[in-house]
Amino acid sequence: MNSPTPVSGSAERFHEDWARLLSADHGIAVHPELLGHLVTRTAALLHRAQLDEPFEPRLAAQAGADLVDAHFTDPVLLARAVELLHKQPVPDDRGPALTGAFAAGWAAALRERTLREQEAIRTAADAARKEAERALRASEARFRALFESAAIGIGIGDTDGNIMAVNKALQELFGAGPADMIGRRVGDLVHPEDTPGVWEAYEELISGKREYFQFDKPYYRQDGEVIWTHLTVSLIRDDDGTPQYQVAMLEDVTDRYRLQERLRYQATHDPLTGLPNRAAFFERLEKLFEDPEPGARFGLCYVDLDGFKVVNDSLGHDMGDELLSAVADRLKTALTPLGHLVARLGGDEFVVLLEKCRGEQEAVAAAKTVLKALAGPVLIGDHKLAVGASVGVLERRVSTTTPGAAVRAADLTLYRAKEAGRGRWTLFDPKENARAVNRYAVSVRMPAALDRGEFFIDYQPLYRLADGRMAAVEALVRWRHPQLGVLGPDEFVTTAEETGLIMPLGRWVLEQACGQAAEWIKQYGDAAPQLNVNLAVRQARSAALVADLARILDSTGLDPARLQLEITESTVVGPEDEALRTLHGLVDLGVALAVDDFGTGWSNLAYLRDLPVSGLKIAGSFVGDLHDPAKDEATGWRIVSGLVSMAHALGLTVTAEGVETLKDAERLRTIGCDWAQGWHFGRPVRPAEIARRIVEEPGGRPVGED
Ligand code: C2E
Ligand code: MG
Ligand code: MG
Repeated sequence: MNSPTPVSGSAERFHEDWARLLSADHGIAVHPELLGHLVTRTAALLHRAQLDEPFEPRLAAQAGADLVDAHFTDPVLLARAVELLHKQPVPDDRGPALTGAFAAGWAAALRERTLREQEAIRTAADAARKEAERALRASEARFRALFESAAIGIGIGDTDGNIMAVNKALQELFGAGPADMIGRRVGDLVHPEDTPGVWEAYEELISGKREYFQFDKPYYRQDGEVIWTHLTVSLIRDDDGTPQYQVAMLEDVTDRYRLQERLRYQATHDPLTGLPNRAAFFERLEKLFEDPEPGARFGLCYVDLDGFKVVNDSLGHDMGDELLSAVADRLKTALTPLGHLVARLGGDEFVVLLEKCRGEQEAVAAAKTVLKALAGPVLIGDHKLAVGASVGVLERRVSTTTPGAAVRAADLTLYRAKEAGRGRWTLFDPKENARAVNRYAVSVRMPAALDRGEFFIDYQPLYRLADGRMAAVEALVRWRHPQLGVLGPDEFVTTAEETGLIMPLGRWVLEQACGQAAEWIKQYGDAAPQLNVNLAVRQARSAALVADLARILDSTGLDPARLQLEITESTVVGPEDEALRTLHGLVDLGVALAVDDFGTGWSNLAYLRDLPVSGLKIAGSFVGDLHDPAKDEATGWRIVSGLVSMAHALGLTVTAEGVETLKDAERLRTIGCDWAQGWHFGRPVRPAEIARRIVEEPGGRPVGED
């Protein structure tokens, strides 16, 4: 074979071909400058390997290794490079040895490199494992430290409820050592009156349906004492999500719980008697109404002590308190065993609640038990105190009423028991209740009624029996109630007295009536009647009345001599200096006073003598009784005539009230009764009707007319 001789220019060609080969895409990015160096260096090595004498295969191997070092590791490149080298003319038959050396250098470098890389990976993996272990150890240590030193009790259990680990705080909480707890079951520590819902939540957690739950919950300590905890239980799952452990954290909240309990107790109990208080009673009552079973019934006994005020006022509050405590004890002892709730509503008022009442009989039985329990005297110090009570009993279907209405109704029923004579029970009566509720409606509306001008005054004439002339008119107040129609004073005056409204109302009546009377006098002169106005007890006892009246007389211009005020006997019962001073003050103004409804109240003749009164009105019932078939008429007349003579003996003018017949009017005249008032003479009427009557009177023409 002809060995080709190296020709000049062959070096440049090889350099070009070599550069083209290395610049082709080999999946690696090399900076052109670096690539240029690599091409120049390896091309020079290979060129020397081709031509240098003696032949140095080492140079070709070096070129192969350089390529690998520069990341030219693609086998395709190796194949192309070998191909290119084969085509080069070389001086002797060193061609195969050269390419062999090049390929061997390339392969050795590649193996070397691969080994190096594997080693690096191994070392890195090793370092990573060591780091992971260290971290795990650190995190475990941290967990341990946390677990052991936590102030909160922590326990770990498996999903079967076996306790696996407990920390110190938990051991202290339970007053137990690890041996007492580890290996036992979670359920062993449970308080029998467990918080509702805990075990349902627990089951859900264990079965993986929830991740955690929280409750306030009691437990038993090792010594049997109950502790209250705030419990949080969390579920721990393994890598594929299967529930593996439960971690319970228990915070001791016993003190907080006890404090809450005590506060709650204080808020719901009466400090004096220890009984549930008003708030607690209403809470229980309202609960009954929340979701009652159909037909559910309940009973209430509203209890009020008879004469407690006397004990309190005469023996002092300490004694009163002791009495209330004793009463509370007795009620509790007698009624709690029957399953009834006894509460103190305030003052001397107690209530018994029958939550599941079987009927009226049971409620009445409870009321009787109350009366029996309080029947015997109470010994306090040296005092033997007789306590009695009155009880209002109410028994109803829950669905027919409301808590507020029921208590009000029981209270009103109690008042009926009191009125009926104390020491007894009275059963709720729907009709009575309706009436009382009406009274209530009246008292609520009354304050505004005065401002709205809903009151008006009718006048009833009083006739002089001797000559049959209209001597006076009595002002009688009425209320045009927007819902209830016209109400008479009997329907609202008592309420007005109780609420205090009688003061402004009474003043208004005086102003109106005095103004009207002055008007009549202006129009009709002496033919105009004198005016009678009723005074409520409270009004007559008020020190302000004298000044009020003086002002009214002044502003209306009414001559005080034309005014008579009617007071009731109860105004002046007892040594009421205040009332007496007021009455004298009124008389000093020049007005006359008369005792109204004489004979229905105190009827103490002695006091009449000491009062500055000039008239006496015999109550209508005396004349009314004359027509009562059950009563002897002759005796009735003797009483009336006795009253008339007695009044005359005291120098008083006598009026008979309630005179409904001509016959009675005649007889009264013969007896010597001065004046009479009643339907026979005329009902209470509007002022215009009175004016008409004045005109009819002899000499009753308006002033100025001839
Ligand atoms: P009273 O002062 O004894 O007034 C007489 C009451 O007897 C009036 O009732 C009158 O309508 C009624 N009466 C009059 N003649 C007869 C009769 O022949 N037969 C019958 N059966 N009754 C007759 P009224 O108007 O209902 O007044 C009731 C009470 O209300 C009055 O009794 C009086 O005590 C009180 N009252 C009326 N107006 C006032 C007032 O302005 N202030 C105060 N504080 N009390 C008033
Ligand atoms: Mg009167
Ligand atoms: Mg009267």
